[in-house]
Amino acid sequence: MSETNAKDDSTMTVPRSSPCQIGQVSSTPAETPPIPASTTPSSDTEKPLRYYHQLGAVPFVIAHLVPLYAFWTGTRWQDWALCAGLYWARMFGVTAGYHRYFAHRTYKTSRIFQFFLAFLAQTSAQKGALWWGAHHRVHHRLSDLEGDPHNSRKGFWYSHVGWLFVPENQDTDLSRIKDLAKYPELVWLNRYWLVPPTVLAVSTYLIGGTSAVLIGFFLSTLFTWHGTFTINSLSHMLGSQRYESNDDSRNNWFLAILTMGEGWHNNHHHFMNSTRQGFYWWEYDVTYYILRVLAALRIVWDIKEPPARVFDPSTHKAATASIPPPGIVAPSKAGG
Ligand SMILES: [Zn+2]
Ligand SMILES: [Zn+2]
Repeated sequence: MSETNAKDDSTMTVPRSSPCQIGQVSSTPAETPPIPASTTPSSDTEKPLRYYHQLGAVPFVIAHLVPLYAFWTGTRWQDWALCAGLYWARMFGVTAGYHRYFAHRTYKTSRIFQFFLAFLAQTSAQKGALWWGAHHRVHHRLSDLEGDPHNSRKGFWYSHVGWLFVPENQDTDLSRIKDLAKYPELVWLNRYWLVPPTVLAVSTYLIGGTSAVLIGFFLSTLFTWHGTFTINSLSHMLGSQRYESNDDSRNNWFLAILTMGEGWHNNHHHFMNSTRQGFYWWEYDVTYYILRVLAALRIVWDIKEPPARVFDPSTHKAATASIPPPGIVAPSKAGG
């Protein structure tokens, strides 16, 4: 297998609140230009199919109504099994593909498996892998600040779904994901991002008929959407903060179960280079476990672990809470 020439994305460890960081690069980012606070599309902007985006939220709303037709068709247990299977398979595509590979480049793989990851992720109908990764990189630069595409301080509904329909969030600025935009097959798949979900929908129809499409495809797609979206909304609202990440990211065990490990979101915002997001053994991260198996099979490699310093209790928020603000010297240290 030929390795994709993924570069080290160590620059993403720069704390997002650092003043210089807004103008710094992203993951491979040695090539990525500054991201201004106002997100102006560059000349590398890949425009989506206009006819689709002019429809706004209409297809999204209709997709939520489609499974209701199953009340007329009836369902079989196989449809529900397909629903569960496709939920977990596509959630893996979202977390291992869209997030930990395309957005953060936390591990390496072959060009073929890279394409497979993009295709699998895109069967969840969350737009192209390049679109997803490019927007997510901005989220980490400007987390919960103006310019964050799904700024959670704009409210639950905005960060959960509202941001998806904001006009400036529709295009893919390829200059923000140059490290992957050099692969024409990914650019093609990003442009025709509805191809993978269409292939999957037709396949479920051929396998199980109408009720399989309604429950196996559409209902599990809705679950995958909202499961993913909770990380943009609830993972910035509900849970605990182990690290001072200068944003509202939280660790939430329940969301980690729903999303195969993505709920350890404060861990992730603290050290986004790590493939593993559940830093401790009890922090369930099934995406990481599966990637470990794939690494044993040599399908992926160079999986990144959290550094030793994240386990140092002095770096945890409870321990740092008593540290006085800059400019104020703690009495116990003043005489030292
Ligand atoms: Zn991330
Ligand atoms: Zn976040």
